[in-house]
Amino acid sequence: MGPQVDPVASDIVVPKEADVVIVGGGIVGTTAALYLAERGLKPVLLEKGHIAGEQSSRNWGWVRQADRDPREFDLIREAMRLWREMGAHGVGDTGFRETGIFFAARRAREIDGYRNWVKAAAGHGISAEVIEGEAVKAVMKDDLSPPPAGLWCASDGRAEPQKAAPAIALAARAKGAVILTDCAARGLETAAGEIVSVVTERGTIRTKRVVLAAGAWSRRFLKDLGLTLPQLKMRSTVSRTAPVTGGPDAGIWDDVIGIRKRADGGLTVANGIANVAALTPDHFRFALDFLPALASDWKHLSLGFGERFFRDIDDWPTRPLDKVSPYEKTRVLDPKPDLRFLRRTMGELKRRFPPFREARIVQAWAGFIDVTPDVVPVISETESLAGLVVATGFSGHGFGIGPGAGWLVADLVTGATPFVDPRHFRLSRFSDGSKPKPASRL
Ligand SMILES: Cc1cc2nc3c(=O)[nH]c(=O)nc-3n(C[C@H](O)[C@H](O)[C@H](O)COP(=O)(O)OP(=O)(O)OC[C@H]3O[C@@H](n4cnc5c(N)ncnc54)[C@H](O)[C@@H]3O)c2cc1C
Repeated sequence: MGPQVDPVASDIVVPKEADVVIVGGGIVGTTAALYLAERGLKPVLLEKGHIAGEQSSRNWGWVRQADRDPREFDLIREAMRLWREMGAHGVGDTGFRETGIFFAARRAREIDGYRNWVKAAAGHGISAEVIEGEAVKAVMKDDLSPPPAGLWCASDGRAEPQKAAPAIALAARAKGAVILTDCAARGLETAAGEIVSVVTERGTIRTKRVVLAAGAWSRRFLKDLGLTLPQLKMRSTVSRTAPVTGGPDAGIWDDVIGIRKRADGGLTVANGIANVAALTPDHFRFALDFLPALASDWKHLSLGFGERFFRDIDDWPTRPLDKVSPYEKTRVLDPKPDLRFLRRTMGELKRRFPPFREARIVQAWAGFIDVTPDVVPVISETESLAGLVVATGFSGHGFGIGPGAGWLVADLVTGATPFVDPRHFRLSRFSDGSKPKPASRL
């Protein structure tokens, strides 16, 4: 079972028409709903399960600029501003705090890489530094084997994934959005290259504009519209401990260790490098697109042969819209956690941090990360279907950038000048011969 998420009750009435329908109630769908409602539109958000039931509640809770792909610099800089300003948008407690994030570096090559990254980020208004020696020890408080150096971004931080998207959804509702949970979008009705309506399991909503923010389900949804999104799924495991004292307050990434302090006093703990590729026919279909991403992460990847589920959702034939859809059959993706990875991480944590020797895992869960070939999201209009904006493929770092994505979606839907250059995020980059490659980790 996934972590317990702050509940958001569903609105009751399904409107007959809407200015814009948003499919997906994660961090991206909820922020899009909030910023669209603030611009005077009346969005209807459809979530097949509960708000933040999938990736948006299952993640580490890192809100980071550090080690971002340069194509995301402007978007994450603005997302940080939006996290800071949540209160001014009527959002309750998201748990956001600027506590800093540290990426350890133990080899000269890594340290040089981070120095270059710091220079590149500075050009986009992102301040970070490579720290060494005593400065590292101060960040890695209580560590018996601190690394010699690392990338330190003091303005990075964390938020609480089980609180953030629900709080944002409630703020969106207060500004006029309709929030429907347990209400899957089965598909779109179109005519002459335009959207006519969204068919939900509880009726049809007439609209000309749709935002697809469906996380790991987006590939399937687009496939039914004849659109190809190269997207694979990686299973990733997370856990939380009972309350602890001492140790670093910052988020720490050091090889197998990925930790952050939680608002409940515990730690969120994950193996920093282990992901499982959920093997499906798509791995063979998209093998060439993903080769650079898989090759750069290969040694940390395990293959999951048991992921029959995705063979089913991605390869099922298109269903008539008056029949039960795959989205209703699986309300919440809830994969099994991989405890073998966590055991190694807990062993390392206890060996290195005396205050964590008694730390006890009280819950573990997993989530499916939606990965694109260049590990950069798609936030884009679609050329062949007017009115459809896709916001997906956040490749393991969409929680932090989520509010920026929501704002960019609102720009694209309303025809405003995009607040950051959206070219890197266009869907067509995978089909126009650009062959974009990854420049960062998941
Ligand atoms: C283990 C793990 C750790 C991570 N750690 C971090 C981190 O520390 N920092 C970070 O920035 N990012 C992290 N991420 C990534 C981050 O969680 C995601 O990128 C982000 O949450 C994606 O948000 P989303 O709204 O696009 O998708 P999701 O949160 O997956 O939401 C999509 C929603 O769409 C709904 N949906 C799908 N199809 C339909 C349909 N047809 N009708 C109605 N609803 C539908 C789903 O039920 C789901 O709730 C992590 C992810 C995982 C899994």
